[in-house]
Amino acid sequence: MQYISTRGGGQPKTYSEALLEGLAVDGGLLVPEQLPTVDATTLESWRALDYAQLATEVLGLFATDIPREDLAALCAAAYSPAVFSTPVPLTPIGDGITLVGLSEGPTLAFKDMAMQFLGQALEYALERTGGVLNIVGATSGDTGSAAEHALRGKDRISVFMLSPQGRMSPFQRAQMYSLQDANVHNIAVDGVFDDCQNLVKDLAGDLDFKNTQHLGAVNSINLARITAQVVYYFWAWLRATDDLGAAEREGFEVSFAVPSGNFGNILSGFFARGMGLPIRRLVLAANENNVLDDFFRTGVYRPRSAAQTLATSSPSMDISKASNLERFIYDLVGRDPQRVVGAWDDLSRTGAFDFTADLPRFAEEFGIVSGTSTHADRLATIRAVHEASGTIIDPHTADGVKVARSFVEDGVPMLVLETAKPEKFGETITEALGIELPLSDELQTLLAAPQRVTEIPNDEATLRTIIETSALH
Ligand SMILES: *Cc1c(COP(=O)(O)O)cnc(C)c1O
Repeated sequence: MQYISTRGGGQPKTYSEALLEGLAVDGGLLVPEQLPTVDATTLESWRALDYAQLATEVLGLFATDIPREDLAALCAAAYSPAVFSTPVPLTPIGDGITLVGLSEGPTLAFKDMAMQFLGQALEYALERTGGVLNIVGATSGDTGSAAEHALRGKDRISVFMLSPQGRMSPFQRAQMYSLQDANVHNIAVDGVFDDCQNLVKDLAGDLDFKNTQHLGAVNSINLARITAQVVYYFWAWLRATDDLGAAEREGFEVSFAVPSGNFGNILSGFFARGMGLPIRRLVLAANENNVLDDFFRTGVYRPRSAAQTLATSSPSMDISKASNLERFIYDLVGRDPQRVVGAWDDLSRTGAFDFTADLPRFAEEFGIVSGTSTHADRLATIRAVHEASGTIIDPHTADGVKVARSFVEDGVPMLVLETAKPEKFGETITEALGIELPLSDELQTLLAAPQRVTEIPNDEATLRTIIETSALH
């Protein structure tokens, strides 16, 4: 299997090359030359597998340059009981809706699902090439902690994670700054998230510095993350159909609702559907920063600036420019790189691109529908789900449940992806339910643990010095 750019440039890449590179050379995103397909017999033969075994089968269709035994070992390590105590439980909450539990990993959010595999796969690829990698990233919370927990203690990788000083929750700070591993470098910048991201972009744009310091990234456009997320769509379908008779199972359709920001998680569902998994609808749930909902309802995509992006109570979805959307557009335009380039030209010229003529195809051909949820919706949904089922959901998952409700159909299970645990966002839970969520002993220990972080001014020279001094070479 080879990977090519959505904009048509560069040479085809292997999976391992795509894993290490991130963005394609022409500024496009890497996509499989052709999606692998899974027929009903193969799908059924995967029913008895545990999560790590299923991951080996699904990722084996993409990572064709990694020998099968090696891939099995990577998946066994990424999805071991020590990392995910219960991998991906399904919990019905009534009204035809079932939660798919993706937050059982070390940082209590779904990004662990892909990042744990990425950590294993990166180390493996570097061992084969004899290289080292210094990951530099900016985080406002969830991505940074998932990356650090997946990469801590690795021999050939170090992490430099920039975070805005004083702007993360105590919980998020503890999850990152309490790590004592020598290869994890937490850097608190005197500024906001955008300042952190600009520092990272400036460094990555200096190709000479990037090469001599072996800099890399693990952001959400990384193809390995997208493919690792495909696995849980297959897992959820298999578990949702376990109780059906053999004849009923074949082609049995379910729908998925996905709390969305960068269009990464739902894109993986789009891939799964394209591979032949019987998915009826992919329901995109946005919060008040609803550029994607606008696009899927009107056909016009108009990203917003950082200044136009609201700070909401589902902060991990506060994104107004969805990098992964380009991979959907590529399919929408019949995989024609010229038309992708054309759309992005329109975007830089006019601030938008327009696919109103294709609007009916969004749902009919691709299965994607969408909706928006607000702060009031989140509170009401957290309350309603708690009253009806006793389950407490986090604000992002609440956005998913809220939008899912408008698309529930008779006889089609609606599976909502749970993207974080409520403990991570205790303030909003208290606002909704009037209770303080009890923290486990483990979480209390985490909050009390000593923290390690280097504070710097918003200054590129200072950051360069830190990287030059501490990076692996
Ligand atoms: C990252 C994140 C999202 C958004 O996922 P995308 O892949 O960016 O669409 C939703 N919820 C939580 C809790 C997240 O951390």
